[in-house]
Amino acid sequence: MSEINELYQEIILDHNKHPRNWGKIESNALHSEGFNPLCGDRLDLYLKFEDGKVQDISFEANGCAISKASASIMTSMVKGKTIKEIDEISHQFHDIITKGCEHIDEIDEALEVFCGVKDYPARVKCASLAWHTLNDVIKKETKE
Ligand code: ZN
Repeated sequence: MSEINELYQEIILDHNKHPRNWGKIESNALHSEGFNPLCGDRLDLYLKFEDGKVQDISFEANGCAISKASASIMTSMVKGKTIKEIDEISHQFHDIITKGCEHIDEIDEALEVFCGVKDYPARVKCASLAWHTLNDVIKKETKE
């Protein structure tokens, strides 16, 4: 962690300490569980669609700072978005954590914090857990 840019480290620690969209959605929400055995990160993701958009999304997590911060940032980013829009954000995220940011022209500001993750292979799975779990939830929606 110490090599990661200090500003980004602060953002991650802030999301870890004060996660956005924390908690359960009790009624009629889609739910998926994510688990990253490499680090022991666990994630419960709740999501409600309305009119083709994410009406509400929340999570509860138990794991390292990066996995929790990533879930906090992800939920903040996809609220109000359509599945197609989420797909685009998700693609950019995976591009960033596998290849870094140098080759991307227009990077979403909220994702800049993950530019350095590619240099820490063990952390890639921590950062991507939230997005994999989101993908699982969306599959449940699109199957119906
Ligand atoms: Zn982790």
